[in-house]
Amino acid sequence: MRGRTIMQSVIVVGAGFAGLSAARALERLAVPRVIVLEAGDRVGGRAHTLRLPEMSLELGTTWVHGLRMGDGRVNPVFRAAQDAGLLTTSPEQTVWDEATFLQPGSREPVSAPEELLVVARALTAFDEAVDAARADDDASRSLGEALDAAQLSLAARLEGAAPRLADRVWAWRERLQRAMDGTASSHDVPAAAIARYAAAVDGEVNVPIPAGFASLADAMADGLDVRFWQRVEHIDWGGSPGVRLRTASGDAWEAEAVVVTFSGAEIKSGPGSPLTAVAWVAGPEARSVGALSDQQVLEGLRLLPKIFPTLSLPSGASWDKVTASRLVLAGEALAPDCFGTAQGAILSGERAAQLLAEEWGA
Ligand SMILES: Cc1cc2nc3c(=O)[nH]c(=O)nc-3n(C[C@H](O)[C@H](O)[C@H](O)COP(=O)(O)OP(=O)(O)OC[C@H]3O[C@@H](n4cnc5c(N)ncnc54)[C@H](O)[C@@H]3O)c2cc1C
Repeated sequence: MRGRTIMQSVIVVGAGFAGLSAARALERLAVPRVIVLEAGDRVGGRAHTLRLPEMSLELGTTWVHGLRMGDGRVNPVFRAAQDAGLLTTSPEQTVWDEATFLQPGSREPVSAPEELLVVARALTAFDEAVDAARADDDASRSLGEALDAAQLSLAARLEGAAPRLADRVWAWRERLQRAMDGTASSHDVPAAAIARYAAAVDGEVNVPIPAGFASLADAMADGLDVRFWQRVEHIDWGGSPGVRLRTASGDAWEAEAVVVTFSGAEIKSGPGSPLTAVAWVAGPEARSVGALSDQQVLEGLRLLPKIFPTLSLPSGASWDKVTASRLVLAGEALAPDCFGTAQGAILSGERAAQLLAEEWGA
């Protein structure tokens, strides 16, 4: 914590689950002024429910993945949905329809026993390949490589028309996998990431929220100061004493710190921005650095001038001025063990609030 300064105001950019959970956590930490700036006209971000007369249709987030997480903690989405009274009393009893595989270009299901066997073999081989990739220690191997090898091996074991059907089943399952992983190519997904993601969920329970995930977002936003149509275009976080934000409509906002939650955040330095040190660390060293606390990373940075005495810094910069940031990033992508999920978003928001509180006092 920094001196006795108590943080008075924080702006949270984005009203998805990361932004809403960051804002709620900051309010719990008794930060007097927390404002959420949202580009659109609703809260929830990628949670978007179409409320039709006869049903709620999810256009984004659909399931609470697991009632608990891999480490035994209650899934924060489950907790929040329960707190808001949005779940039935026994969500684990939810029954799902079986998936049916159709004939090409037809509504007729695949039903011949020998064809059903091929469908089952292809789906099993796919799942086994994903499981094997999870257990793979080779950090450089992608999920795509593991799947390609498994698909070839399956085709070599089939005869007649079976490989064609197996390829169709495989292509469908592979698309589903990419949709779940949020990637255009499984070759971009390290096998090791699949293992980490799997550790995020305990058990196979996937529960929908009958009233829709938008209701959960509404419940989380209840009582928060959310301003809509505020697309943040510029953040000046280098000056003192705080941060200044400018929106597309030209509105200006000021606060002591900012939490940025939208994905693909581009943070560019401009005149007056602080100098930023960037380091690329890969392989086993990256895993070691990832296990360090932020304080340990800062201490490591301060050792650099001792290791490289000839290193000269640009004028105005000093190794002693490594300071805590007024800008913290959050969003599902920043949850290393459950990226791509609503729980990842919620946990990243809570972590951002905690980081600010530790750095600036709350
Ligand atoms: C189709 C689909 C299905 C999914 N299914 C599931 C599921 O079943 N279970 C699950 O757990 N997860 C699921 N997910 C993932 C889950 O929806 C996301 O991980 C989570 O909602 C991300 O939350 P977030 O707050 O990190 O980001 P977002 O929800 O993207 O929130 C970012 C917010 O920032 C706003 N914003 C963007 N730019 C600006 C700006 N410049 N200024 C101000 N505001 C800005 C956006 O409008 C948005 O409201 C699914 C995702 C999709 C797309």
